[in-house]
Amino acid sequence: VRARAMEVEHSPDVTYEDIGGLEEQMNEVRETVEMPLENPEMFTDVGIQPPSGVLLHGPPGTGKTMLAKAVANETDATFIKMAGSELVHKFIGEGAKLVRDLFEVARDNEPAVLFIDEIDAIASKRTDSKTSGDAEVQRTMMQLLSEMDGFDERGEVRIIAATNRFDMLDSAILRPGRFDRLIEVPKPEAEGREIIFRIHTRGMNVADDVDFGALADLASEASGADVKAVCTEAGMFAIREDRTEVRMADFREAWEKISRDEGTSAGDSL
Ligand code: ATP
Repeated sequence: VRARAMEVEHSPDVTYEDIGGLEEQMNEVRETVEMPLENPEMFTDVGIQPPSGVLLHGPPGTGKTMLAKAVANETDATFIKMAGSELVHKFIGEGAKLVRDLFEVARDNEPAVLFIDEIDAIASKRTDSKTSGDAEVQRTMMQLLSEMDGFDERGEVRIIAATNRFDMLDSAILRPGRFDRLIEVPKPEAEGREIIFRIHTRGMNVADDVDFGALADLASEASGADVKAVCTEAGMFAIREDRTEVRMADFREAWEKISRDEGTSAGDSL
């Protein structure tokens, strides 16, 4: 179970060029995660400690995981991913043990980017902390914080956490020295959507009539993941009609289908 829950990938193939519309976020991630990995002596020379943990927050499918992978790629680091929900176990001490294992793997694979997705699963505000399940979850979080505190300053392991539920987070994890660098990763604006459309159609056989600007305007409210889904679906429409070239009409229909499907499951993302 553990081996499956933990994803370990050396220098993943995602690059900054694959990410659209997150210029500012990218720069911040580079400064806080990449610089300490590549230039640890800069921080010792200046006499400050790099931020311990960076927290990415924003709606699903906006590129948080991509950002973490791109840093690992750029720094030639090992990318280690674990979902917070995987750290929630019913046996006492199990979650804390998993956290220890996680950091051990990270240290054994330095330089490493440790990405903890759905951090809210172990770091939510608790209304009823008396129940045993909650106490166990809290212990898991304490273990995570203590592992972070235990780091030396060289910064060979960088921690990035992500959440879609920023409002739910316990303020304890946002205290100085913890996840004190907050980076909001929002849904893209029209300009960002256009770039993301271009990224995801790079390898596609796109007809001359395809207008990415118009598509970006059409697909308002789309996340990066939605844009990707629209591109794939547009390709499917072409295949169904036995064409190898994907037209504007295919993209329009694809967006209609995707936004309709999203509409029916909108409750899930609320
Ligand atoms: P979640 O909160 O659901 O884990 P996430 O924010 O981590 O989502 P990613 O896993 O990074 O989202 O994105 C999912 C997929 O959507 C990516 O693999 C990519 O194909 C596409 N995508 C999302 N955001 C972007 C973006 N800004 N630029 C290009 N592609 C994107």
